[in-house]
Amino acid sequence: MAAKMKNCPSCGRIFVPMNATQKLCPDCMDKLREKEHEVVEYVRDHPKVKIAELIEATGASENMIKRMIREGRFVQTGVEMTYPCEKCGAPITTGKLCPKCAGALKKDLAGAAQKIAENRERKLAERPSSFRSERTTQGGGSGAKTASPTASKPKKYAGDGLSHRYRGLR
Ligand SMILES: [Zn+2]
Ligand SMILES: [Zn+2]
Repeated sequence: MAAKMKNCPSCGRIFVPMNATQKLCPDCMDKLREKEHEVVEYVRDHPKVKIAELIEATGASENMIKRMIREGRFVQTGVEMTYPCEKCGAPITTGKLCPKCAGALKKDLAGAAQKIAENRERKLAERPSSFRSERTTQGGGSGAKTASPTASKPKKYAGDGLSHRYRGLR
């Protein structure tokens, strides 16, 4: 018999699960089922109940109630149970955020990732020039002073030069 033993995360007892998805020992499964039944009954009796009240009244955990909502356990009661979006408080039945906030978050994350990438590129581009300026200040101001006027060429001149070169290339 290749029975895999598991440790019940709720009571710590070792048990043999009936299938791969069974996490709790049979006793705790029974207790959980009873608790879930209690929660469903409570919602049926109090259709306007808030999750916070439900937790207080039944002793169920918020995670458990959220899981039950996701699993559609309250559908049979005819009560539409929802929990608030963690960002805007809109009623949702799945995940942590409403579709709107989830979409916005996705955009934010993409934008943040892009910013990080841009900053990294900028830093990489800045690093050699900052090394150079450190070296020129160490070596003396004369070198830096002669270098700066050539660097700030008038834009029109630089543009003409470029176009000339371009024409020459063609
Ligand atoms: Zn147990
Ligand atoms: Zn939201």
